[in-house]
Amino acid sequence: MTMTRRNFLKLGVGVGLGVGLGAALLPVALSPAHAALVSREMYVFGTLVNLGAEGAEPEVNHALDEIEHRFLGMNREWHAWKPGELSTLNAALAEGRAQAVSAGLEALLRGASHAAQASGDLFNPALGNLIGLWDFHSDVQQRAAPPSADDVAALCACAPSMADLRFDARGVSSVNPKVRIDLGGYAKGVAIDWALDHLAAQGLHNAVVNLGGNLAIAGQRDGRPWHIGVRHPQGEGVIAAIDAQGREAIVTSGTYERYREWDGQRYPHIIDPRSGQPATHVVSATVIHADAAWADAAATALVVAGAQDWPALAARMGIKQVMVIDEQGGVAMSAEIAPRVSFVGAPPARVEVV
Ligand code: AMP
Ligand code: MG
Repeated sequence: MTMTRRNFLKLGVGVGLGVGLGAALLPVALSPAHAALVSREMYVFGTLVNLGAEGAEPEVNHALDEIEHRFLGMNREWHAWKPGELSTLNAALAEGRAQAVSAGLEALLRGASHAAQASGDLFNPALGNLIGLWDFHSDVQQRAAPPSADDVAALCACAPSMADLRFDARGVSSVNPKVRIDLGGYAKGVAIDWALDHLAAQGLHNAVVNLGGNLAIAGQRDGRPWHIGVRHPQGEGVIAAIDAQGREAIVTSGTYERYREWDGQRYPHIIDPRSGQPATHVVSATVIHADAAWADAAATALVVAGAQDWPALAARMGIKQVMVIDEQGGVAMSAEIAPRVSFVGAPPARVEVV
């Protein structure tokens, strides 16, 4: 059946884990579901989080309680600008001191460093001072003048990088005092991987974890693939549907979601580390990959890479399935993702397989 927007959205009631930002679980046309999906919604990481797993209610709820608890802990400890373990580390880095860190934070920093290196530092979580300069350290949308070009250029010239970090017996330090860690482009992916691992360890192998549109699934839903919608970056609703099963993350990084506005101009919250300016040409990059943390880092880097350079970067990071949407609404896809994407509603103005 070819999906039109109408019949697609009308299909059955199935599961309802609310439309998030980048991706969402969609209702599917099934006969009445046999396996119960026990689900939960919470607000953490500054976004709506949906979790669900098939199984007996008490067991699933117990696992979801543990995940909720862990997510709240991650949010507290890894927050980019609120007091917690990461902000304590950032204060030490700025003063040139070493700081002892937990094994969890060290693993996170090492993972983020690896992804940063693989992305040629287009994914660069060391640029927290630039994020601060742009005043993106806020839970509410900003309406204020952008920083001066001189201030941005001066900070950019200091070239903060994860490669400046040193790990030794004293803890973590930086040879560059301008390094300030912001894991906003990575920690959600790590949290998703942790949650799916935790559910699997409890024997819950059919599950979904959606952190504000950064979504991953395990197994199947009622014996069929999970049915995922990718949100339209420039409008309401869904632009495409993708079926997924096994262990897959579908992560979208978008410049439409968080930004500041000044004098009629939008300044998205993803910064090009080369210029210190917001990345504007790609409005969204969706990545499918087994590892949600890697997909999260890659999606951010692909937005920065832009419409010309994303295929080379994806290849360099070992990401095969990518869909990129540009400012004009044109869609470019890798050959590996193309057969999996069904557009919903009016087809995009331009669709290109790269
Ligand atoms: P995401 O939604 O995963 O693309 O992450 C965006 C968030 O990552 C922003 O809100 C910033 O906190 C941070 N960020 C912005 N630009 C970059 C970048 N070039 N590399 C790494 N993190 C970034
Ligand atoms: Mg990201």
